[in-house]
Formats: sequence, structure tokens, C-alpha cells
Amino acid sequence: MASIDTQFGNDLKKFGAIDFNACYNCGTCTAVCSLSDEQNSFPREMVRLSVLGLRDNINASLKPWLCYYCGQCTTHCPQDAKPAELMMSLRRYLTSVYDWTGLGRKLYTSKVWEFGTIIFLSLIILALFVFFHGPMTTELTDQGGVKLNTFAPWKQVEIGDWIMAGLLSFFLLSNIFNMYLKIVRKERGLKIPLKLYFTELYYLVIHFFTQKQFSKCDTLETKKKFAFSSYWVIHWFLMSGYVIMFIMIVFFLGWFQTDNIYHWTHPQRFLGYYATAGLTVGVIYFFIARIRKKDEKSRHSHVTDWTFLVLLFITTITGILVHIFRVNGMPYPTYYTYVIHLMVLFPMLMIEVPFSKWSHLAYRPFAIYFDRLVQAAKKSV
Ligand code: SF4
Ligand code: SF4
Repeated sequence: MASIDTQFGNDLKKFGAIDFNACYNCGTCTAVCSLSDEQNSFPREMVRLSVLGLRDNINASLKPWLCYYCGQCTTHCPQDAKPAELMMSLRRYLTSVYDWTGLGRKLYTSKVWEFGTIIFLSLIILALFVFFHGPMTTELTDQGGVKLNTFAPWKQVEIGDWIMAGLLSFFLLSNIFNMYLKIVRKERGLKIPLKLYFTELYYLVIHFFTQKQFSKCDTLETKKKFAFSSYWVIHWFLMSGYVIMFIMIVFFLGWFQTDNIYHWTHPQRFLGYYATAGLTVGVIYFFIARIRKKDEKSRHSHVTDWTFLVLLFITTITGILVHIFRVNGMPYPTYYTYVIHLMVLFPMLMIEVPFSKWSHLAYRPFAIYFDRLVQAAKKSV
């Protein structure tokens, strides 16, 4: 029998949940949700489980990951119980449940931990540069650019990138395995044939790269105006920019961080510009949306939403400045801005990828994949 946790509601409030106790269980939110269906009906059930304090049921549910936060349910809720906000808070909460280190919970619920970790990781990067940087030369390349690789040789930076990527992968993948145990293993007695893990993999790949559920999730007014979800387009642009940049700095740094100044049509510059444009447009769009608070999904910001946007904004701006200073032959501004860029980039990735906002990019498609596994296994019985 499921146990009731009377403190669960208070716990959820730390992750941003508000007003959900006002729910009187009418079901309007589920009726208006464009992503809810017979197999996975939400958000009413999630609100109910939260009100009743059924923590174990929530911990084993993938439904919070199927919501893409359009806010329609909150707009139509007669009790103003803010079900969309609850779903968002449950995603933050579940991120901390999957995380075996306990860091995820601390980063979400304590500003001291969040800002302390950012400062600590920034100082590590600063110390590495103070003690190990190369010569700061004012001599320019034949093309008039700054010799960045003399100051920060890409081979050394790449070693740091690989260590970071290894840590990120370890934390994120182990947390995803925890998610698998909670969601799939709860189907006690259900045997999942090995071949399903491969045949259903398609859903993981397609949902990760297209995020197509997003395109079904927007306010009716926006859809009427643009005939598609503008939220999805911007989010996809931001995500693709981030993925391209991440791949370039981790796997192709020697190609990306050169002292050569290529023509702008060269793939190195073209991809760099595309990724920068995606990050810039995305971050400005979400900044403005959260300041204006016009849409339901932008009205209530958790402190971690702002931290993420600020870190991403500084990373993007300093990245752009490094490029401008480098190609225009300004050595000292290039070197100092490069250090600041890495001092913000490193903590942002270390916090956001395995424990916070960016981890949602992985949890959503995995939730859909795990759901498909369970559904397919039930059908094959
Ligand atoms: S959250 Fe609002 S719309 Fe949904 S069941 Fe409760 S009262 Fe009804
Ligand atoms: S925010 Fe949108 S997708 Fe999420 S539960 Fe509400 S209506 Fe459904």
C-alpha cells in the first residue's frame, strides 16, 4: 500500500510549486492539455498525487517529463491551482530524486550551495590559468589575429574538456540509470525482451533531436498567429546551437580554436556563427519572456531559471567578445575575456548538464523511450 508523506507538499514548494493545494480535482487541466492521452493522462493525476503526499508514486512516474510547459492547464484552471507550475516543479524535484550524489537537491533548494558551487568551480579555472597559462604575447599572426594558442594551447584546454565531459557523462548517465530503475522496474513481473531495447531506441533518438512534442505544445493564440509553435522553434534553435558548440569544444577543439582566421563561409566559422546565433536568440527570447511575464510558462521563475539564463548569457557574450578581439588583433582583451569565458562556461556545464536545466534535455527523451519499452513489453506478453 502506498504511504502518505505529509511533508511532501512542503518539499515541493522548495522546488517552485505554488497553490496546487487549491485543486478540487475537476479535470479541466487534463481535458485542455494537448499532450495528455488515454495512456498517459496528466496533469490532474500529478496534482492529486502531490496533494495527497504520495511521494513514491510521483518518484516512479514519467508523466512530469511528458509535459512541455505550455501553460494551457493553468490558464483554464478554475481554482488557479497552477498545474503547469506544479509539473515544472515536479521535473526539478525528480531531477534531484534520480541524482544519487544529493548535489542536485542542494543546488535546487539552497542558494548558498548554488552560488557557492559556481564560485568554487570558477576559482578552479582561474587558478589553472594563473599557474599554467602560456606567454601573453602582443605579437600578432600573419593575418593580424591574436595568438590565442600561445596563451592557452588547445591541446591542454582539450585535456580539461575531456575530463569535464567524462565527469558530466558519468553523473548524467548514472542518474538516467537511476531513472530507469524507478520507472521501468516498478512494473514488477514485467519482462522486457532484449530486442525491444534496440527497436524502441528510435523514439529516444527522434525525440532528442527533434523535440517534436514541443511543437504540439503552445498557447492556442500563438499557434493561430504563427501556424506553428514559436516556443518550439526558438527552443530548438537554442538547443541545436548548444549541442553544436558542445561537440566542437569537446571533440574538435583543435579545429575550432585555431589562430587562423578563416573566411566566414568556412565550416569552422559558419558552425560557430550558427551556434552563437542559436544561443544568443534563445537566451534573449527567454530573458525577455521571463521579464515580461506575459505567458503562463514565463510567469513564475525559480531562482535556478535565472541563474541558468545569466550564466548562459555571460558565456555567449564573452564567447562573442573573444572572437571579435581575436580577429581584430587585440591580445590582452582576448586573453582576459577568454579566461572569464571559461570561468563561467565550466561551472555552467558542470551544474546544468547533470543536475539541473540541461539534464531535462536528456530526461525527456529517455522518459519517452522507457515508456515505449514498457508499452511494447506489455503488448508482447
Ligand atoms: S488543477 Fe485546476 S483544472 Fe486541474 S483538476 Fe485541479 S482544479 Fe481542476
Ligand atoms: S503545461 Fe501544457 S503540456 Fe504541461 S500539463 Fe499543462 S497543458 Fe499539458
